[in-house]
Amino acid sequence: MLERYEHFLKKFDEKLNKYFEEQCEFIKCKEGCSACCEVGEYPFSRLEAEYLMSGFIKLPNEIKAQIREEIKQLKCENPKMYKCPFLIENKCAVYSYRGIVCRTHGLAWFDGEKIQLPYCVNKGLNYSKVFDRETGEVFLPNVIQEQLRIDNILRSCDAEKFELECGEIRPLIKWF
Ligand code: SF4
Repeated sequence: MLERYEHFLKKFDEKLNKYFEEQCEFIKCKEGCSACCEVGEYPFSRLEAEYLMSGFIKLPNEIKAQIREEIKQLKCENPKMYKCPFLIENKCAVYSYRGIVCRTHGLAWFDGEKIQLPYCVNKGLNYSKVFDRETGEVFLPNVIQEQLRIDNILRSCDAEKFELECGEIRPLIKWF
């Protein structure tokens, strides 16, 4: 199953790369920026959580210990929004194994009713030049029309071709 999921991810990443290219004039993502991983719930399906953990087990022991400690702390505090425990020194420790929501971080898309903006617009980053903070209006000429929400992506025709059994979707921390 993880092999099929990897094939799906390859196709999905190709599509996302095209979206990032098309939207490049509004995108300020760069190495070392981790705004999207600092506050969130990070919905992950069971399949994605398994894939993430297949990357986690390959990490050096000291990084694994650090992540375990972060998870333990989060489980005690149980916050709704939190910094992802896999974010180590402003970098994703499991980048190649990150979830679908992580891959769509930074893009704006139309959900059928309104434009969904990335969290970092509030930090003056992606799409901030077409976003009016006072009125909440977005002046985006070409918005992505695909609904980039995890449940839509996992139920899409593209995902069906790979016969993925994704299982339940939970906030990342609820998988531990
Ligand atoms: S898994 Fe990696 S990319 Fe996804 S939220 Fe956590 S640190 Fe960010």
